[in-house]
Amino acid sequence: MTAAVALAVASALAGLSVGSFLNVVVHRVPLGQSLVRPRSACPGCAATIAARDNIPVVSWLVLRGRCRRCQAHISARYPIVEAGTAALFTAVAVRFGWSWATPAVDAFVAGLVALACVDLERYLLPRRIVYVTAVLSGSLLLVDSATTGRWGRLAVGAVCAAVAFGLFWVLNRVNPRWLGYGDVRLAGAIGLVLGWLGPDYALIGFLVANLAGVVAAAFLLGTGRMQRKTPMPYGVFLAAGSVVTVLAGAPVAQYLQSHPI
Ligand SMILES: [Zn+2]
Repeated sequence: MTAAVALAVASALAGLSVGSFLNVVVHRVPLGQSLVRPRSACPGCAATIAARDNIPVVSWLVLRGRCRRCQAHISARYPIVEAGTAALFTAVAVRFGWSWATPAVDAFVAGLVALACVDLERYLLPRRIVYVTAVLSGSLLLVDSATTGRWGRLAVGAVCAAVAFGLFWVLNRVNPRWLGYGDVRLAGAIGLVLGWLGPDYALIGFLVANLAGVVAAAFLLGTGRMQRKTPMPYGVFLAAGSVVTVLAGAPVAQYLQSHPI
């Protein structure tokens, strides 16, 4: 097995267990509950979930999305987050290889998955998740700079974080209904990591996020699934735009560099 394949496999397995943890984060952080205690329990019968029923993706499929004891329905969000995080970690490993950038971007992507889920379910971006994501990925990018000596990238990331935070802060001041303060904090974290990849990545990320938001809103309004006053979970689009840009933004960034505006 080559080193690249080993990294991809290890990343997929890590993604499954991190995804399982993210499900706990999504459920408990908005309620202000502890992440470590008590152990996960069935929302229907309150029975503690046994280790064999807590295997990522597999247990949900074997039990067909129901509790072993009371048959209560278990949301498909659980296996989707687990499999999705595994797929994203694998893609990050392929993109960044054996470097400190891989765990740094993994931390960023994992935080975005959790934030997108909470925003989708509750129109909320808990500051605890945003801060932990920014500090964890920022620290790992710091280690990357220390080992590679590429401190300039970190400086660009810091500048992009400040600019994104500032712009979103102004928009929030002008009209808090456009975007909440959670979006302002998240924009800073996104600016840091995308800016570390390059200022053009930060630009692409926010453009893709807003484009996806506009397309989704047009579709939902056009098909009558949404009213004009219905709030949009903007954090979901910021997260999606960032993930797409981190994994697939390189060709666009290269095009922009060879065709200056
Ligand atoms: Zn149950």
